[in-house]
Amino acid sequence: MQARAAVMSEPHGRWTIETLEVAEPGPQEVLVRVVASGICQTDVHARDGFFPIPCPAVYGHEGAGVVERVGSVVTTLQPGDHVIMANPSCGACPECLAGFETYCSQAPKLKQSGYRADGTSLSFSRGQEPIYGSFFQQSSFASLTLAMARNTIRVPDEVPLDILAAFPCGVNTGAGAVMHVLKPHPGDSYVAFGTGTVGCAGLLAAKLAGCDPIIAVDVFDERLALARSLGATHTVNAKEPQVVNEVRRLAGGRGAQCCLEAAGVPEALRAAVEVIAPRGTACLVGSARAGVEVHLEMRTIQQGRIVRGCVQGDSEVQTFLPRLIDIYRAGQLPIERLVRHYPHAAINDAVADMLAGTTIKAVLRIGTA
Ligand SMILES: [Zn+2]
Ligand SMILES: [Zn+2]
Repeated sequence: MQARAAVMSEPHGRWTIETLEVAEPGPQEVLVRVVASGICQTDVHARDGFFPIPCPAVYGHEGAGVVERVGSVVTTLQPGDHVIMANPSCGACPECLAGFETYCSQAPKLKQSGYRADGTSLSFSRGQEPIYGSFFQQSSFASLTLAMARNTIRVPDEVPLDILAAFPCGVNTGAGAVMHVLKPHPGDSYVAFGTGTVGCAGLLAAKLAGCDPIIAVDVFDERLALARSLGATHTVNAKEPQVVNEVRRLAGGRGAQCCLEAAGVPEALRAAVEVIAPRGTACLVGSARAGVEVHLEMRTIQQGRIVRGCVQGDSEVQTFLPRLIDIYRAGQLPIERLVRHYPHAAINDAVADMLAGTTIKAVLRIGTA
């Protein structure tokens, strides 16, 4: 079997579309024909060599497509099922058994080793040359790929796969952080630092929860305009002086009950801690590279402020993603407004637009359903 895949041959390089051989699915795997894939900041971290996965490699961790073939023990999926591929977990470690699969002890291996779950075999090859993949056990930047049945979620046939490709990481993380960690009450004040996909998904979840005011902070005015149209009651450009004081004033003086840090920069995390009220919670979901440090004033935390992070919205993907898709279908999560589509071969342009802030969620169109 052959796939057309966006391959990265060296750290900090450019993607090229190449033809690769794809292995047969193992007993617990599925072979998926990829229709669309979201691109996320983590793919850019991978491009730039911040994970152990060697080159040449195929990344992509927000795949949406159609099941082609299933492994010998897979009973939950069958060929023809429309699916999305999400965050992988082992299902057997203490964290998974306790219901905290996003903290799976096998996660680093499953996401970034380049190997399939058995730890030794590869999804792709090119002649005798190994190609590393199984990125988040999916490597969705390929037209045909292997995933674990466990991280492959059936979705309704009638929902467009090129919109659902935004859900597995970005929408899941933002909405999950609000619904599972911050858990705001109606009338709570809510602050979003960063209005990319994760920040906007969190903002939409906060609006659904009845938060008021909802204050969006970003450095891009166009993104702030979008945030306002999605439900932000106030916006603040982070380049303005006195951002913290302004946000606290808008939140009623004592600070906000909830804040989502989805920018992934130290200044935003520090500000996120400073804008919450005593006993408020600031949740970090922005993805920073290893070694990035933040300075906090100790007394801000002493005043009952809760500062915590979360991975992938603390979500159980098999139950939470179908729930989010139901909310989307009810018209209450207009994710299509965040998405801009690109052809598979335009992946380098898509990433450039993402990093320039002109595209919120880039989704590659890779195949047809
Ligand atoms: Zn586990
Ligand atoms: Zn991601």
